Amino acid sequence: AKRQETPLSPLSPEEQILVDSVSNVSISEWSYYYTHGYHVAGKNMSMAEWTADRWRESGWNASVVSYNVYLNYPVNKSLSLTYSNGSTFQPLLEEAVLDADETTSYPNRVPTFHGYSASGSAEAEFVYVGRGQQEDFARLKELGVSIEGKIAISRYGGPFRGLKVKNAQENGMIGAILFTDTADDGNITEANGYAAYPDGPARNPTAVQRGSVQYLSIHPGDPTTPGYPSRKDSPRADTQAVTPRIPSIPISYIDAIPILAALDGYGVDGGTVNRTRWVGALNVSYSTGPAPGTTISMSNLMEDVYTDIWNSIGIINGTNPDETIIIGNHRDAWIVGGAADPNSGTAIIVELSRAFGKLLAQGWRPRRNIVLCSWDAEEYGLVGSTEWVEEYVPWLTDTAVSYLNIDIGAAGAWPYFDATPELHEISTDVMKKVPWMDTNRTMYDAWFEYTGGGIGVLGSGSDYTSFIHNGIGAIDIGAGGGSDDPVYHYHSNYDSYHWMTNFGDPKFLAHKYMAKYLTLLAYNLATAESLPLNVSNWATQMEGYYSDLVDTINSTSDTLDISPLRSALDEFTSRTREIEALEQQAAASKDAALTTLVNHKKRDFQRGFVSQGGLPNREFYKNLIFAPGMDTGYAPTTFPGITESFLAGNISVAAEYVKKTTDAILVAANIIKT
Ligand code: GLU
Ligand code: CA
Ligand code: ZN
Ligand code: ZN
Repeated sequence: AKRQETPLSPLSPEEQILVDSVSNVSISEWSYYYTHGYHVAGKNMSMAEWTADRWRESGWNASVVSYNVYLNYPVNKSLSLTYSNGSTFQPLLEEAVLDADETTSYPNRVPTFHGYSASGSAEAEFVYVGRGQQEDFARLKELGVSIEGKIAISRYGGPFRGLKVKNAQENGMIGAILFTDTADDGNITEANGYAAYPDGPARNPTAVQRGSVQYLSIHPGDPTTPGYPSRKDSPRADTQAVTPRIPSIPISYIDAIPILAALDGYGVDGGTVNRTRWVGALNVSYSTGPAPGTTISMSNLMEDVYTDIWNSIGIINGTNPDETIIIGNHRDAWIVGGAADPNSGTAIIVELSRAFGKLLAQGWRPRRNIVLCSWDAEEYGLVGSTEWVEEYVPWLTDTAVSYLNIDIGAAGAWPYFDATPELHEISTDVMKKVPWMDTNRTMYDAWFEYTGGGIGVLGSGSDYTSFIHNGIGAIDIGAGGGSDDPVYHYHSNYDSYHWMTNFGDPKFLAHKYMAKYLTLLAYNLATAESLPLNVSNWATQMEGYYSDLVDTINSTSDTLDISPLRSALDEFTSRTREIEALEQQAAASKDAALTTLVNHKKRDFQRGFVSQGGLPNREFYKNLIFAPGMDTGYAPTTFPGITESFLAGNISVAAEYVKKTTDAILVAANIIKT
């Protein structure tokens, strides 16, 4: 049966002013501005100032905050293939300049490279390593494929790219090449009859995914200042704990085909390897190789710098100085464009700042502080947001209620979000207040059709990371990736204004409705007398994580006593009933002091889930309820200290983390206790 259409929820007069202020025409102007100038991390001060100026014009108190961080920039690179008979193949390495898309021809367009990649050269036979997870390497070893001293060619997708390089290095490989496979493009492929960009929505064959190769799952932020803000005179740690020593180069699928084809028939055939997404959609056999005597020669030269980066920070002071809502988006892109990543989000937050400006002009003041952040250097490893959180963590711990992140705000027509559990209900409720894409349908219904109502757990990959690992609840929203959305040319020159206006979001309608949504969500969190955060949903969600843990334990022959965790969850659940009862009492009695008490418990309880020592071998990741997987980087693991140690066979460490996780949940339960 067809689902009932959800009716639009009514808006208050102030909400109406906010949504009426949002215009796709002005959003397209902000998008044009950001996507026509160089704004790689550490090279975008004028855009930081411009952003703060726009916010100031709308009545925000805005400034630019800088940090001095380690980054590296590309100088030159080379890559060639030599067959055993001595003939050679020379890949393009750069993306085609398109007459239709002006920014692809800018003289200052950014070469293809990996941020934080190592300078160096390598010459060796090469091996296809699938998506480059630890399990892929284990499988290659099991199959007897020789990998030591070879160069890895690895497919993008799945784990964070830096972990692919890390795993290659740790398995004794001496260089890494990462390619895009059209198997990750869904239905929208040339093979299915779609033309390639700029003529159609399919992938341009020369598109290359740039991106950072730091080891996201160890710690984000400036590699040289783990745990403290980067200043010119800060002590500096060695970078090698979180950046590779072997060179790496990203390539397009058109360049990958001959390289993979050179392995056809050598080593183990792709079909026999039997690993997740080993075989892709290119016309090759995805054999492991190596092909005896067929070699790759590669070199990568990077310039290491300590440079300033710039976060723009805008503030509206609330009447309650001790409660703060933070909204953030990064501004830096890998390319001149960045129309979707990240500047769809940037255009949206400029529009949001203007909507709040309409209320400010009437003398309005929110109950809570609203802080608006435009981060720099996210692309290198969440650097701007991490350094800022490291600087302001005492104040954030005291006052932060929620962090709202928007990165790729619009790369297509389908909305999605991941969030900490207390935000699920308010996030879906607000979607019922917003129509979607100039139709009568609610955003809620579009979201539900796309996601089936699923709300993901936050792993990593964008700027919410430092917040959740300091016990601050967060949501990450975006649009795109639907089966009828155009192929998104992630981290490529083709993530341009031209692509956006022809394929991604031609009329900026997804931008427009995402802007209305984010504005209303921030407004509701910043103004509701009783904080609209659902603490009980933490109990519900943690029950799910608990049964996953039980399944994990039962799937092995090892045992682990998790009964203390069980008791802690029961304790937490019963405390959530108390805070619900207190909330009702506060509402019925209109007792302001009681409301404040409940609000502060809701603000603070998640601080309990973080533990100072962090997870095993990764102190940065302090949240014991979820964290990016050690070998995924992006995708989350729940009860990570327990789950990952247990699966690695470290039962005593797992038991230690049963205790730590139990204690953390009891601390959170104690905060909400009435
Ligand atoms: N969002 C960026 C990416 O996925 C940066 C993530 C990171 O390096 O921490 O490449
Ligand atoms: Ca730091
Ligand atoms: Zn981004
Ligand atoms: Zn990005």
